[in-house]
Amino acid sequence: MSRRRFVKSASLAAGAAALAGSSRLFAKPSDFVPAIVVGSGFGGAVAALRLGQAGIDTLVLERGRRWPIRSDGNTFATFEQPDGRGYWLRESTGEALLGLPQLVKPIDRYTGVLDVIEGNGIAIGAGAGVGGGSLVYNAIIVKPQRALFERLFPSAIDFDEMEDVYYPRVRSVIQSAPIPDDILATEYYRSSRVSLEQAVMAGFPTRPVDLAVDWDIVREEIAGLKVPSAIAGQSFYGLNSGAKRSLDHNYLPQAEATGHVEILPLHTAIAIEHGNGGRYAVTIASLSDEGEIVGVPRRLTCKYLFLAAGSIGTTSLLVRARATGALPALNDHVGQHWAANGDIAVIRGALPPTNAATGGPGGHFIFEDFENPIEPTSLVEIVMPPHINSALAAFGAPPSFCNYASLGIPPAIGSFAYDPNTDRVGLNWPTIDPRVTSFLAAAQHTLATLDQRTGSATISFNPAVSAHPLGGAVLGRACDTAGRVKRCPGLYVVDGALIEGSTGLANPSFTIAALAERCLEQILANDHLTNGS
Ligand SMILES: Cc1cc2nc3c(=O)[nH]c(=O)nc-3n(C[C@H](O)[C@H](O)[C@H](O)COP(=O)(O)OP(=O)(O)OC[C@H]3O[C@@H](n4cnc5c(N)ncnc54)[C@H](O)[C@@H]3O)c2cc1C
Repeated sequence: MSRRRFVKSASLAAGAAALAGSSRLFAKPSDFVPAIVVGSGFGGAVAALRLGQAGIDTLVLERGRRWPIRSDGNTFATFEQPDGRGYWLRESTGEALLGLPQLVKPIDRYTGVLDVIEGNGIAIGAGAGVGGGSLVYNAIIVKPQRALFERLFPSAIDFDEMEDVYYPRVRSVIQSAPIPDDILATEYYRSSRVSLEQAVMAGFPTRPVDLAVDWDIVREEIAGLKVPSAIAGQSFYGLNSGAKRSLDHNYLPQAEATGHVEILPLHTAIAIEHGNGGRYAVTIASLSDEGEIVGVPRRLTCKYLFLAAGSIGTTSLLVRARATGALPALNDHVGQHWAANGDIAVIRGALPPTNAATGGPGGHFIFEDFENPIEPTSLVEIVMPPHINSALAAFGAPPSFCNYASLGIPPAIGSFAYDPNTDRVGLNWPTIDPRVTSFLAAAQHTLATLDQRTGSATISFNPAVSAHPLGGAVLGRACDTAGRVKRCPGLYVVDGALIEGSTGLANPSFTIAALAERCLEQILANDHLTNGS
């Protein structure tokens, strides 16, 4: 199917879905909904399910589209044949941000899955669509070690309770699991085995991670029964086989099944403000396939507003609302305490043969360097996009690569600012601050140790792009420790904006979702939410 034909048929389907989505709550004359959730990623999906189960009528606004898995194996773009489905409103692919401008290809501007937000000092990747970051993520589900969690999170958030209640609650819905031995033993996953051997050789402690992957579907890929996706090194444009257990396959349909939740794709929240009678008002716009606003934006009101547009989306809405006087009570911590989880894109080479461009979507072990004299760091392997693997070999880099996310404990000194001239909120990351250079030195120290002890070589270290934005409306400062925005009753933050820059050497989605579970439990137990107007 050509790109344009795909766009056409997907557009018809989306139009039908949007109409279907408007049938119930929107039939009400006043445009009032008891609860609105902005965003359908980890925080939004948890909020939707728990509000629905509590019987609260809830509308989920999602700027992106739905991505149902198609039987012809052509839901998503692939690394080899990118098109508009891969990116949120871009005209070209994003390899220049990875230092590989030679690989950039033109694409149709479309409401695709991966958003690239270019801040001042850092570029951020984030998901767009029903399921948010889970559509594009490497599906690594890992929690931090106790000591780091206790160092980084407010003491009111008890690690034992997170470990006993909230992390397992998330796992039971997503059904993540470590890679089974029979799959790890295949040629496709050689790079994971090599990575593990490297960590052991260098003396770093390792532990397996869960993947939000349906391993039976991966077995079907291996058997030739499903389109090769995970095994073919695909990841952040989505997996066409359906092997990724993204939130549109678990939390979100379960929320809809309660009968109290409607998801409205291709609808963006433009602004939030106080409404009459203690309500909140949300200005929303319907988007075309190309991301243009269709018709006139409308104003919905609600009693309970849950912000889950991701760290950057949520913080931008709040910072703009404070600056324009729409929510003047927001405190000075809003828009502060941000960092990107110390997430640095790293490529290593001169390894034993790896087969790195197969066996996605994520790595299967984390190794943590707690002996690092500067700060602890970790490394998690992620799959190498096949076209990048080929290009590196062609450019003469040492053969046999592995691709990693290096994670550290960054200073949460990023911030957001509203520009009244453009009516936009920008992200600022102070790259030359000595606290930033020190945390980068910690990551480089771990890599140097690894190279020295194993004879391998770090060939690319790129802190200018990250996929783990965290902070902007953090727990205990802009919000209380259950996500209630201070001085704004009925307004809640339940996503990565709550976390002060780091989840403690762990990829963040599991902790975001577990914290959202904790927030929703406390809110539903204590805030007496009802459907009445
Ligand atoms: C390529 C990539 C790989 C990753 N791999 C991993 C991994 O393996 N493991 C891991 O733990 N983490 C990974 N992450 C990070 C993870 O995806 C995020 O930490 C997580 O998704 C953040 O959850 P959230 O709830 O804060 O927001 P998100 O999941 O980002 O959800 C926010 C949602 O809000 C929507 N939205 C934004 N603004 C608006 C608006 N104004 N109106 C309506 N909707 C809006 C967005 O479209 C999106 O769907 C990865 C990220 C990327 C980009």
